[in-house]
Amino acid sequence: TVEMLYEKDVTTNYMKNKKVAFIGYGAQGHAQANNLRDSGVDVIIGIRPGKSFDKAKKDGFEVYSVAEAAKKADWVQMLTPDEVMSDVYKAEVADNLEAGNVLGFSHGFNAYYKEIVAPKDVDVVMMAPKGPGNLCRRTYMEGSGVPALYATYQDASGHAEDLAKEFAKANGAARVGLLKTTFKEETDEDLFGEQNVLMGGITSLIETGFEVLTEAGYSPELAFFEVDHEMKLICDLIYEGGFAKMYNDCSNTSEYGSYTRGPRVINSESKEAMKRNLKEIQDGTFAKEFMDEYRGGFKKLYKYRAEMEKSELQKVGDELRTKMPFVSKADKYSD
Ligand code: NDP
Ligand code: MG
Ligand code: MG
Repeated sequence: TVEMLYEKDVTTNYMKNKKVAFIGYGAQGHAQANNLRDSGVDVIIGIRPGKSFDKAKKDGFEVYSVAEAAKKADWVQMLTPDEVMSDVYKAEVADNLEAGNVLGFSHGFNAYYKEIVAPKDVDVVMMAPKGPGNLCRRTYMEGSGVPALYATYQDASGHAEDLAKEFAKANGAARVGLLKTTFKEETDEDLFGEQNVLMGGITSLIETGFEVLTEAGYSPELAFFEVDHEMKLICDLIYEGGFAKMYNDCSNTSEYGSYTRGPRVINSESKEAMKRNLKEIQDGTFAKEFMDEYRGGFKKLYKYRAEMEKSELQKVGDELRTKMPFVSKADKYSD
């Protein structure tokens, strides 16, 4: 079990007088920069010219090139997409870090897989909100927040962990709870979750269910409602009260069918596949493959994306969603 820390538990003030540069002003950069500014932290933005640059200017920040911002700041918070981060770091950040500076992340990927290796005299920390950026910003403004993980990768100052906690507190996260982790644990778990359950698992399950029904002659529209649309309703019940609440709100027929048929689908073979995926995360195989894919121009990523967008499930769903305006009004989170 991990101890949860709250505002009263974060009492140090090592961040005082530290200027924080946010590198990137997207989902997390936008949320964290605004939250920290509202908490009284001296914030600047470092970004390439473009959409984010203009937005940060409009929001009233001092905006610089990445190199200039990194030079001016005491704390450089890396919030570009993970795959471009090490290129940005090498080209514009590395030479502008000074002894005693802090290099911050919101995901462990680049430090853990050694895409970014910071100088020894710099603290390397993480504050990873357990929620999308716009939710972090909205809840902060409402007086609450999104829980966050904090971790230390390199402690040059002797108080790197306190700095990570203070940063999380300024982001509003200590209002609802901070959890200590390591770069390894956060990265392994994050990648495992998205690959096997949250995204990879759920999309494969939905897609395969849709194929089986439509190949057996059932109508795509009904199949869509059955295996895709209803997923949210079931997930909401699990979110609210676990499997117990979900089963309690569903029929005995469905509950019995679930216990007896579900394990035929997700079985020991699926478990072995998950273990293999975990191993490829732990030994760096996945990270290497992904970074090679990025450096090769994301050829496979774009091909898979195009196939997904053209798929019958996506088309049928898009058509039916236009007739359900309440669906498109649902809160949109970007991640
Ligand atoms: P986004 O894609 O939303 O934003 C990326 C930002 O980086 C944009 O402002 C973009 O600007 C800028 N950028 C892109 N390429 C470059 C470049 N070459 N040089 C300078 N700036 C660049 O990223 P996220 O906020 O989603 O992710 C940031 C970090 O936060 C990642 O480590 C991620 O894993 C982590 N994280 C994200 C969460 C989320 O809510 N999305 C949740 C928890 C962690 P431009 O407009 O010019 O493209
Ligand atoms: Mg992730
Ligand atoms: Mg049913």
